Amino acid sequence: MSAKGDMVYAWAADDAIHQKGECGGAVTALLTYALENGVVDGVLTVKKGYDIYDATPVFITDPAELAQTAGSLHCGTVLLPKIIKKYLDNARNMKIAVTVKGCDAKAMYELAKREQINLDNVIMIGLNCGGSVSPVVARNMIQDKFETDPDVVIKEEIDKGQFIIETAEGHKGISIDDLEEEGYGRRSNCQRCKTKIPRQADLACGNWGVIGEKAGKATFVEVCSEKGADLLDAAVKAGALVTEAPIPKGIEIRGKVENAMFKLADKYRAKQFGELGEGKDRLKFIMDETSRCIKCYQCIENCPICYCVECSTKKAHLVTPGQVPPPFMFHLIRYSHISDSCVNCGQCEELCAMDIPNALFMHSIQTEMQEMFGFEPGVNMDLPVLALVEEQTERKRLSDTGDDQIYNIFAKDKK
Ligand code: FAD
Ligand code: SF4
Ligand code: SF4
Ligand code: SF4
Ligand code: SF4
Repeated sequence: MSAKGDMVYAWAADDAIHQKGECGGAVTALLTYALENGVVDGVLTVKKGYDIYDATPVFITDPAELAQTAGSLHCGTVLLPKIIKKYLDNARNMKIAVTVKGCDAKAMYELAKREQINLDNVIMIGLNCGGSVSPVVARNMIQDKFETDPDVVIKEEIDKGQFIIETAEGHKGISIDDLEEEGYGRRSNCQRCKTKIPRQADLACGNWGVIGEKAGKATFVEVCSEKGADLLDAAVKAGALVTEAPIPKGIEIRGKVENAMFKLADKYRAKQFGELGEGKDRLKFIMDETSRCIKCYQCIENCPICYCVECSTKKAHLVTPGQVPPPFMFHLIRYSHISDSCVNCGQCEELCAMDIPNALFMHSIQTEMQEMFGFEPGVNMDLPVLALVEEQTERKRLSDTGDDQIYNIFAKDKK
């Protein structure tokens, strides 16, 4: 019987899944087992879309279709939890398995604590994540730095600090540090990210720590919850998954790599936040950058913390309608509503029509608020400083009383 904290090397028993999988296909084998055996009703994950730079979300209910999702898409910057909220009825009435990077896992918790996702019905298969690369940056980088046509690349991977491409001619790798120094490489939110092994998920799966003859052919799985332990045990018992004890040196290496990634993220935070300046200079910088805004709403639409039925940015008394760029109040509303819970997923920057570094601004505020109030978003079900109300109840109170103080931070103290 597995338990939280256990670690194993794992791979798919099925040969075809083993071959197709990124590192032995353990994740696909677990998902297939779960779907075939009614542990879940569907699987939410991604598959290659138009090309390898296009990770398309898919919701799969036929286990035979899962094999096509095997493999890692490092240009897959899509965030899956909001899809559950928007299109899968908040997982209220169906059980869903979903692959999650660290930012997905954190977004899942923030949505769950706002009652926008029913976590009881969700199994999170975590993927360790050193970072992802924006599709447009990836194509430019491959063209400029690898001097290769991005359309002839068959596969991309990130391994041992290198971005590696495979073409019919063979492999070519360039150090990510070097690429990032020249403005390519991982998304800037990924450079700042410190959720490299998503232990908020039920299982955390990755290639770090797999050494010896299993290197590249197995996945290192850390059990992070009872739900994860049950799924792992059941898949092994059914013969869908094969496991063995990890090599102790591998565990040590995995720990060292994780720590090195934390240090690198701290370095990037210091650099990127430092470049924003302090106090009024920072405010001016943010106001200048956001003055390009065309009010396309992509930042709100894709932010996992923004879920309100009636968004305050659409209220005429707060943000003058029909004005482009919108008054700075448009952005201030988001900073005040979201910043304490921002999970640095990068969606508001990645999808911004005007390339405004929204995630950088929000994350810089979030880290300062964390220092002030001690609240760290996305790590557990603790409520953020301001979230003392349940939206539906609050809306009823609003309609009964006409009082629009939705977030009353001192409500508890007044009682
Ligand atoms: P497979 O059986 O191949 O299944 C992989 C599953 O992941 C599939 O369901 C697939 O749809 C899903 N998936 C692929 N891309 C994404 C995506 N972008 N978002 C959400 N789901 C996705 N491991 C490390 O130890 N260190 C790392 O630095 C590291 N970085 C990674 C970065 C990214 C962007 C991704 C996606 C994965 C990363 N991994 C990392 C995990 C590793 O690449 C393998 O996914 C893991 O070892 C599982 O291998 P597998 O053969 O068992 O998975
Ligand atoms: Fe991975 Fe973190 Fe980037 Fe999310 S923010 S893609 S978890 S590095
Ligand atoms: Fe993600 Fe941006 Fe929302 Fe933060 S503010 S959680 S980076 S979309
Ligand atoms: Fe809700 Fe504020 Fe986000 Fe609008 S900006 S959706 S009001 S949290
Ligand atoms: Fe403005 Fe960018 Fe948000 Fe669109 S995504 S509303 S351009 S900040």
